[in-house]
Amino acid sequence: MTSLNAKEEDEYYIAFDYVPDNQDIRNKYRQLKQLVEKSEAKIIILDMICFEYFILSFDKLVSWTGTGKTDKIKMRKDILAAIEDHRIDLSKIKNQTTMQYLSGFKKYSTERVMKSLVGEFTQNEKWSVKGQLMGECWYKDCCVSEHLDSLRCGKPEVEEGSEKMRMLIQSEEVQRVIGEVII
Ligand SMILES: [Zn+2]
Repeated sequence: MTSLNAKEEDEYYIAFDYVPDNQDIRNKYRQLKQLVEKSEAKIIILDMICFEYFILSFDKLVSWTGTGKTDKIKMRKDILAAIEDHRIDLSKIKNQTTMQYLSGFKKYSTERVMKSLVGEFTQNEKWSVKGQLMGECWYKDCCVSEHLDSLRCGKPEVEEGSEKMRMLIQSEEVQRVIGEVII
């Protein structure tokens, strides 16, 4: 942002992964806010928890990926219900197994939990959300897996790639954060 040559008539949006239980990110967020306050340009910070949170909270995640991990499905439910102020409110987690899963993290942060749990649901490379590009089942017509005999895709009820992307973007959580920006 320091190198941004802001034009007055433009609006700028910064998508920021705000994870308050990570000290380093908290510091960076503070710096960014100061820069935004000093700037003349119209800059809006979209404070998301992290990209993985969008994926995890997407209501079609379980059915689309076709995961059979019932324990992780339960944990996902517990954790999503406990999100408050950009973090997992541990006092809201009543389930022992979920609590054990959370306490198993070496360097615990909400973002790490989201990343790791999303990884459990998207192990099929066609549903992956790691790296630069999302797996092809997210945006291409289903199903494109080359390993048809070990198919780990839930075969979504909508098959068209662009339709799937539209559903993800229009999902509740994504809309809450970026809805007014892109629609
Ligand atoms: Zn597929």
